[in-house]
Amino acid sequence: MKTFKIAALAGDGIGPEVMREAIKVLRVAQKKFGFTLNITEAPVGWAGIDAAGKALPDATLDLCKKSDSILFGSVGLPDRDPTIPKEDRPERAALLRIRKEFGLFANLRPVRLPKALAHACPLRPERQGEGIDIMVVRELTGGMYFGQPKKTESIDGGHRAVDTMVYTTPEIERIAHVAFRTAQLRRKKVTSIDKANVLENGVLWRDVVTRVGKNYPDVTLEHMFVDNGAMQLMLRPTQFDVMVCENMFGDILSDEAAALAGSLGMLPSASLGSTSGETTFGFYEPAGGTAPDIAGKNLANPIAQILSTALMLRHSLKLNDAAAAIEAAVGKAIEAGNRTGDIFSASETGATKVGTTQMGDAIAAAI
Ligand code: NAD
Repeated sequence: MKTFKIAALAGDGIGPEVMREAIKVLRVAQKKFGFTLNITEAPVGWAGIDAAGKALPDATLDLCKKSDSILFGSVGLPDRDPTIPKEDRPERAALLRIRKEFGLFANLRPVRLPKALAHACPLRPERQGEGIDIMVVRELTGGMYFGQPKKTESIDGGHRAVDTMVYTTPEIERIAHVAFRTAQLRRKKVTSIDKANVLENGVLWRDVVTRVGKNYPDVTLEHMFVDNGAMQLMLRPTQFDVMVCENMFGDILSDEAAALAGSLGMLPSASLGSTSGETTFGFYEPAGGTAPDIAGKNLANPIAQILSTALMLRHSLKLNDAAAAIEAAVGKAIEAGNRTGDIFSASETGATKVGTTQMGDAIAAAI
């Protein structure tokens, strides 16, 4: 039987509540599909500071290094101790540290709007087709956010700020491979986003993605300028399957696409690092934060965390059937009318407002 080690870091706020439901669902999936997950929980964020004086305690980091993947909740509580400096606060000391430590270069943000939740989408129903299903693949460690030089200098009468956009062939190749492999597991279409009409980086990006694409003859590749991509997401989002973007374009377009799903509570994400043997190291988390306004009240939507486990099974552990079963179970729970507060509308007939645990139970039962 296949056995994997998972580090489960629930973190702060709603983290522990939604993590509990995700683990519940994983337990049902492993029984049904015949694999074993050795899940070890460890503190991170303010929970790490409280337990061991650090947002990412050494023991938690060691556990992550010995694991095949990290399942993460969220960290950060804005009202906790303002005297703790920024670099020691959870958002930087835990999240950014993990991204760097594990070389997580590919960020996957699926945006799925089931037809039953059409009311939660800001677009008119006729623009939603049979439901929206887009995967944004964002390069996470290069481009303008990290390129050097990066500085602000004094010049006559003011300042001059410099950011540098840099990409190398290998950086583009590896993210392109992730995009094409992801498309092979979906509807087999990649839209590569660039600004090749203006940026040198865009020309290189387009050349390299085109070359890598030749290794995937079963996947259709199209190119789109980023400004048009932003517009098309609003006009006809159903045309997209996988969108692959450099870091900054991906940052912006993934949030724009996320708005289509109606609630942060529905959106999972994956950040992938290197592959060794059968597994790819990955970090899986909901797109939202710790939601302090609803924490501890059984109000949080656990779907983002539960769908993060499906991404982990597919992209890190290559357990595609189990991943698909979890996603289908989420669909069934929604079709059956289960709604947490964030996706509930009083005008929707047949919908029942449920809490975090009831939503988790409904999804577990639907597997
Ligand atoms: P947030 O995402 O926590 O909350 C924004 C809104 O979305 C809130 O109204 C919240 O109730 C709602 N929401 C989020 N997730 C939900 C869910 N699963 N179900 C139902 N509603 C949900 O953003 P914020 O309030 O700006 O940040 C709160 C804290 O979280 C901050 O400390 C921030 O730094 C941190 N944060 C952490 C991460 C992370 O760990 N990756 C990401 C974003 C924010």
